[in-house]
Amino acid sequence: MRVLKEFPFAKVLVLGLAKSGTAVAKLLSRNGVKVIANDLKASEDDENVQSLQSQGISVIVGEHPLSLLEDVDAIIKNPGIPYENILIDQAVKNRIPVLTEIELIPYFDINQTVGITGSNGKTTTTTLIYEMFKKADSPVSLAGNIGHVASEVAEQMHDKQTMIAELSSFQLLGISTFKPNIAVLLNLFEAHLDYHHTLEQYHNAKANIFKNQTEHDYLVYNADDQRILNMIKNASSNLVPFSRKEVVSNGTYCDEKAIYFRGEKVIELASIVLVGEHNLENILAAISVAKIEGISNQVIETVLTTFTGVSHRLQFVKDVNGRKFYNDSKATNILATTKALSAFNQPIILLAGGLDRGNEFDDLLPYMSNVKALVLFGETTQKLRKIGEASGIENLEMVDTMKEAVQKAYQLSNEEDVVLLSPACASWDQYKTFEERGNMFMESVHKL
Ligand code: ADP
Repeated sequence: MRVLKEFPFAKVLVLGLAKSGTAVAKLLSRNGVKVIANDLKASEDDENVQSLQSQGISVIVGEHPLSLLEDVDAIIKNPGIPYENILIDQAVKNRIPVLTEIELIPYFDINQTVGITGSNGKTTTTTLIYEMFKKADSPVSLAGNIGHVASEVAEQMHDKQTMIAELSSFQLLGISTFKPNIAVLLNLFEAHLDYHHTLEQYHNAKANIFKNQTEHDYLVYNADDQRILNMIKNASSNLVPFSRKEVVSNGTYCDEKAIYFRGEKVIELASIVLVGEHNLENILAAISVAKIEGISNQVIETVLTTFTGVSHRLQFVKDVNGRKFYNDSKATNILATTKALSAFNQPIILLAGGLDRGNEFDDLLPYMSNVKALVLFGETTQKLRKIGEASGIENLEMVDTMKEAVQKAYQLSNEEDVVLLSPACASWDQYKTFEERGNMFMESVHKL
């Protein structure tokens, strides 16, 4: 186990006791930092509160007393807690540093960090990079937003390991010295404006991923994204662009046939399992990191010819007698479904429907030209049926269960068709989560 070295704060207030807060409070405490933990919504009876108390950590629940600030050197807050929070607001006024737990990573002095951020595609790109390192027998740990508390992972790492970390804008906002040795900036859309208020603030948070980088570090960035081009003008990093649209001779790019890195062919597009233009961008980004690391084209090819996608995100499930089944249960809104529909040139049998949020589905219309049949379920069945009719689709089926939906889709399909679950709706009318919905789909496909 590594130890926290030269950490400048002796007394820390940990704010928000969900998974990461609880882990961080314990981590700091076992590294000799005095910790007070505070959560407005937690109660004395909560398991995590009791486990902190049993380790001698003082926990205050149910309120945010300002007196907590009197005797602390820094705050580590849960990334989801907004800066308007009364304690955070006062701490900023009192010039008490407000950090997120990824700021602890530098104090564990680990070998190397690859950090991935962007509005979309983080999990996919992070997973691809992780798989490439693993296949190259390069020791790695997965961390961050993808489900592992980053500072806890850092504490466990051995000397030669690289951390591959998925980083959200909320996490990046609370850093002061942290930097990835290789940063990846995928794209910037208008997202999370409820938290960041302005687009500028959101972009500034994302820009934190390279603000501490020097000429010894690398910044892999999407050269097709004008907002990113503007943002990186002041970066001190070694710049490695990737582009789906033009030849970027110092980075990673493609033509109709293959992907290239600095003039050298890396892989034929036809051999890649992942579909969709958005995934091509994620692949270009992942290849950029792999090439910086000196990973061979053969390893990259092995990963990209076998990686079927992150679960429930346009994930290839199975070929059943020439029909290709894809699970895109994560598509809980119209935009995600339009991306999935754009990924295929073949005839599609689309499985869709779910929770009715009161919206209409007209924005799907321009993307329906390849859809030859619709199998509908859930609260939005009738609304989606109207879209099917307006698109001139004759095969419109309404079903009650996922099993029926899959069987119906198979009956309606021919060889070479795509059967796509991309519901354009949340799952909560029929399922607990989109994962449960996607698992039902995959189970039914495997039973065909
Ligand atoms: P994140 O971790 O950032 O949420 P994921 O890899 O989980 O991203 O992908 C979530 C969804 O975002 C996908 O199902 C797809 O609809 C969309 N997406 C993925 N990658 C990109 C990209 N590079 N550009 C635009 N949209 C993307």
